[in-house]
Amino acid sequence: MKLYSTKNKENLADLKEAVLKGLPDDNGLYMPVNIPKLPKEFIDNIADYSFQEIAFFITSHLFQGAIPENDLKRIIESAINFPAPVIKLDDQKYILELFHGPSLAFKDFGARFMAQLMSYFNQEVSKELVILVATSGDTGGAVAAGFYRTPGIKVVILYPSGKVSHLQEKQLTTLGDNITALEVNGSFDDCQAMVKQAFLDRELSSQVRLTSANSINISRLIPQSFYYFEAYKQLKAQGQDIVFCVPSGNFGNLTAGLLAVQMGLPISHFIAATNANDVIPQYLKSGNFEPRPSIRTISNAMDVGNPSNFARMLDINKGTEKSSTWNNMKDHISGYAYTDADTEAAIKEVANKYGYIIDPHGAVGYLALKEYQETNPNTVGVVLETAHPSKFLPDMERVLNESIKIPSRLAELAKKTKKSTQISTEYSAFKAWVLANY
Ligand SMILES: *Cc1c(COP(=O)(O)O)cnc(C)c1O
Repeated sequence: MKLYSTKNKENLADLKEAVLKGLPDDNGLYMPVNIPKLPKEFIDNIADYSFQEIAFFITSHLFQGAIPENDLKRIIESAINFPAPVIKLDDQKYILELFHGPSLAFKDFGARFMAQLMSYFNQEVSKELVILVATSGDTGGAVAAGFYRTPGIKVVILYPSGKVSHLQEKQLTTLGDNITALEVNGSFDDCQAMVKQAFLDRELSSQVRLTSANSINISRLIPQSFYYFEAYKQLKAQGQDIVFCVPSGNFGNLTAGLLAVQMGLPISHFIAATNANDVIPQYLKSGNFEPRPSIRTISNAMDVGNPSNFARMLDINKGTEKSSTWNNMKDHISGYAYTDADTEAAIKEVANKYGYIIDPHGAVGYLALKEYQETNPNTVGVVLETAHPSKFLPDMERVLNESIKIPSRLAELAKKTKKSTQISTEYSAFKAWVLANY
């Protein structure tokens, strides 16, 4: 398998290099040179495949022998070991629950798969690998859980102080062992900028083996395509056109859906749902991509002002003589954005109308699907429920005015003690800390 950089098609890497490096040297993003179309028989008979078998089928085609089949099977069995059920709200609205993993967010899929691949590829190297990850809330928890006690790998998580939920913070700061949390006195964008700068810092990378675990790593993206097939399998029998509605921040999840379509998933349309951080819905309207500082909302994992997967979305929707990139993008994706007040009203509506407790991110998705279906009535829509509502306990209980049940694996965390190191947004201080500790 070969991957190219979105900044330069000639800049190629194999899977091992792309997974271990995370980012190409030119600061582009890795994309597969060849995205194979899966055989039609697979799509036709998808009901006969288990979720793990779907994941294996996809990766064995995409990786083209980069990992021997037996190893790949083992990797998938360790990483994809929890379900992705589709729940019916009504005949046209469904929820794809992606929160059945250890950190209760969809990011468990990417983080666990990446951890498996990295430790597989890292076996031959003796120097320890340091993973830097910036999180707006959920990435860090999933990465921490995914890499916990993985030999030869250390994880450094940067999170914006006071801007993640109490339980999210516990997920980042209580594991210890090979996991270290840096509490940054700034925003998520500041955290992301420091991580990006570290990767471009030749002096730093000559001394410490660094890699990333954000959704920019291709090994995070690939497993996120699995559950689009898994949801399609569960809904295929109903026969209508399926659209996926993706609550989005950095747009990794939506990009994985576009990858799934390239691999032959028969889906014609996606809905990009955002909170007030609506850079992509604005782009879809105007054709201008204008990143800006993120705004804080109650769907905090989507508070992203400069969505990092945009370069991949551009490549997948590349313009032709007949149609510009922007036109292609608009053909395949509709964008909608909502305020916190809208989101809170939607949480109430979904509870009252369907008896379903939806988290603030899923609620943004629900609103977007509803709006889309006003003009596209003959569709079946699937909202990706990206996290369990109990991860956002104070907001959920305030909005619904009732107590929310916490899954036991999260309740255990609340009892543990937070351990973090505070740092400023000064890159030089961060660099000095990395050099002193690794
Ligand atoms: C990360 C996250 C998102 C945004 O996903 P992207 O792939 O960055 O667009 C949405 N909801 C939740 C709960 C998340 O953790």
